[in-house]
Amino acid sequence: MAGEPQADCLFCKIVAGTVPATVVRETETTFAFRDINPQAPTHVLVIPKVHYPDAASLAEAEPAVAADLLTEAGRIALDEKLTDPGYRIVFNTGVGAGQTVFHAHAHVLGGRGLEWPPG
Ligand code: C5P
Repeated sequence: MAGEPQADCLFCKIVAGTVPATVVRETETTFAFRDINPQAPTHVLVIPKVHYPDAASLAEAEPAVAADLLTEAGRIALDEKLTDPGYRIVFNTGVGAGQTVFHAHAHVLGGRGLEWPPG
């Protein structure tokens, strides 16, 4: 059921602690850890503890948790000193956009110049 932990979901396992991750921050509703394959000097993933397949479905079902996710992304950017010159929050949504893990997650990327448009 949406919102419930999924036995076959990697990020649910990270939240449960059965798959290891380098934890950055944790709140009642969110969990943040370093991406195992960083695409920038700082690359942190922020995920909701509840399971939804992508950010849009999370926001539809649990808007307060989606807001927590964005708040946490901003706090991490501050903590990691990414705000000058800037950073990016990315929600890859769908296979064609590069989504590989179907548990909502924000990528927080920074520490180098970031080009626009992305590839
Ligand atoms: O947006 P996308 O679904 O591709 O992002 C999934 C991210 O999860 C990837 O950047 C990948 O490196 C990361 N990952 C991780 N730890 C794992 C498996 C995947 O940080 N154990």
